[in-house]
Amino acid sequence: MRPEILFPLFKPVDSLKGVGARLAKLIEHLAGPHLIDLCWHLPSGIIDRRYAPQISEVGSGTIATMTLTILEHRKPPVKRMPYRVICGDDTGTMSLVFFHAHTDYLLKTLPVGESRVVSGRVEIFNNEVQMTHPDHIAPLQELDQLKTVEPVYPLTAGLSSKVLGKSITASLAEAPELEEWIDPEFLKRNNWVDWKTALLATHHPNEPEDTESLSPYRTRLAYDELLSNQIALSLVRLSMRRVAGRSIAGDGRLRDKIINALPFSLTNSQNVSTDEIVSDMNADFRMLRLLQGDVGSGKTVVALLAMMNAIEIGAQAVIMAPTEILARQHLKTIEPLAAQAGLETVLLTGRDKGKKRTEILEKLARGEVKIAVGTHALFQEDVVFDDLALAVIDEQHRFGVHQRLQLSAKGRAVDVLVMTATPIPRTLMLTAYGDLDVSRLTDKPAGRKPVDTRVLPVDRLGEVVQGIKRSLDTGAKVYWVCPLIEESEVLDVAAAEDRYKHLKEVFGAKVNLVHGRMKAKEKDEAMAGFVDGTTKILVATTVIEVGVDVPDATIMVIEHAERFGLAQLHQLRGRIGRGVNPSTCLLMYALPLSTTAKQRLKVMRESEDGFLIAEQDLKLRGAGELLGTRQSGLPEFRIANLIEHSDLLAVARDDANLILNRDPDLKSARGQAIRTLLYLFEREAVIHNLRSG
Ligand code: ADP
Ligand code: MG
Repeated sequence: MRPEILFPLFKPVDSLKGVGARLAKLIEHLAGPHLIDLCWHLPSGIIDRRYAPQISEVGSGTIATMTLTILEHRKPPVKRMPYRVICGDDTGTMSLVFFHAHTDYLLKTLPVGESRVVSGRVEIFNNEVQMTHPDHIAPLQELDQLKTVEPVYPLTAGLSSKVLGKSITASLAEAPELEEWIDPEFLKRNNWVDWKTALLATHHPNEPEDTESLSPYRTRLAYDELLSNQIALSLVRLSMRRVAGRSIAGDGRLRDKIINALPFSLTNSQNVSTDEIVSDMNADFRMLRLLQGDVGSGKTVVALLAMMNAIEIGAQAVIMAPTEILARQHLKTIEPLAAQAGLETVLLTGRDKGKKRTEILEKLARGEVKIAVGTHALFQEDVVFDDLALAVIDEQHRFGVHQRLQLSAKGRAVDVLVMTATPIPRTLMLTAYGDLDVSRLTDKPAGRKPVDTRVLPVDRLGEVVQGIKRSLDTGAKVYWVCPLIEESEVLDVAAAEDRYKHLKEVFGAKVNLVHGRMKAKEKDEAMAGFVDGTTKILVATTVIEVGVDVPDATIMVIEHAERFGLAQLHQLRGRIGRGVNPSTCLLMYALPLSTTAKQRLKVMRESEDGFLIAEQDLKLRGAGELLGTRQSGLPEFRIANLIEHSDLLAVARDDANLILNRDPDLKSARGQAIRTLLYLFEREAVIHNLRSG
């Protein structure tokens, strides 16, 4: 249960005064559904209203807070001209300018003969001082309140800074004082203040520097966030370790059969990784290892060999993929190889229902089948194994900590191998996986040809289409990836549909379309048509990003490549260059190109090394955007900036380990404070796994 002290912060945003359904929706979209999300919505800059000049000394383009006497209202002779209110002080006169003015309102707020404080941006035209639409108009006694520094918040269309600011202030008022979770010595050494003070201070910046990541108040909050992340990961790890492991040491007979059946020999890093995994499995603790390898580096075979090690001792092994398509693809690789070793493979996905499902479940429960391939359907409660020893999770970044916990509840002491094609830089690795053991596939299978990557402007589309026409005659298959439109899957799809129509006019039935809004079955059918060659050109949104294997696809066109993140471009390009023929990737861009977009395209043209590209990506765009989209599933940070706070991350990791070494069940006073911290950052899923949860 969430500690009571945090209840107020987890009230929905529509509980705020003046926030109805419409505003709540906007706030939710911008910050999140709860008051705490508004607290985490930090200012991106300041407006300094402390400058209070007289008219004769005011500088053009400055924000000024001025005390003025209202002299005259000048209605415009024609409607489209602005309404002017002439004001003065001891040193001169100036005008307040209003477009589309409501005369009644202005006469009431700015009565002739009286004085008011106004604050806003001042411009000087032809020696005439004016302020267009002042931000504030207030009675004289409010001068001191106005002459301050205002935080500027990131906004969204339809939400004014005034309304948002009020909601944030109201949310901050609910922030309680919390028991300190940071070690007092460490706190003192850094000159940090307590959580609540730090939070309030970040919302009341005085100087522009106060809104930067490395300001002391923000750094403290960033540390809180990183600490909660590291504690959560360590707890998952501990809870997995807590179930005693078992030694899984097969005799190698099935592995030999598989290796003999392979039409290729393993690369060096496949051999090394297999050895690392098998030696973890041999040991009597529980394995939690990450197998990291670029697209096409051959992770599946390594996973299969690990599975064979488990089956050699009579136990079972499963491999899980995030989507149905990918599960089927694994089945396609694994089934024939497993058959060579005399083993049956079953597939279990969400689509299997009724009698068929029951049959599969019985086979698994009785131990008749040793290998299962599937989706998260394999996690469901009624799926029981006779003796599950190894779970391989592919493309882990689509699963979360939750699934890892669910999994740790299955079987006696299931060894876990996580596979990812995302080349994650070290810093991110720590936030996504904590101190996980890692095996890396660094070399590509022999015979792979480099992809020829070209960058060209979108006005050469006609030429590209002609070029594709010629290539189709030589048997090529083409992926045509359509632009990613931020935050709108609907628009994505519309763009893809337009392109599909256009290409259909040229290529007729050879073109097909696949996108994220299609039903799983339709998607599978579209993919199947592309695999068997009925379809030669597959127009797609980024659904093809993840591991679908069509070796004879040798051309990829990516439209609006400038909108994609580097890692995403790399993932996409990894779909080609998998077969015997040389491949070409055409990155089409539209102007104007930002500097970073230009650099990204350059990196793509020059490199195919996933790790190098990921490091460049981190440098160019910042961690939040590293994987392009939210679906990446890597933890998102509200406050911490993984580039600027990378040193803190290492400290948080050590701190987390220390805390949990001393107090693995978070029972001490500090442990209780840490629990509150986990709830505060909504990482409480791990708490239920504590012994005294
Ligand atoms: P990924 O790492 O993207 O999951 P896969 O395991 O799907 O890669 O392998 C991609 C393709 O490369 C498959 O067709 C697989 O059979 C093949 N492959 C794997 N290892 C080798 C190797 N050592 N030599 C040649 N081809 C290989
Ligand atoms: Mg794969």
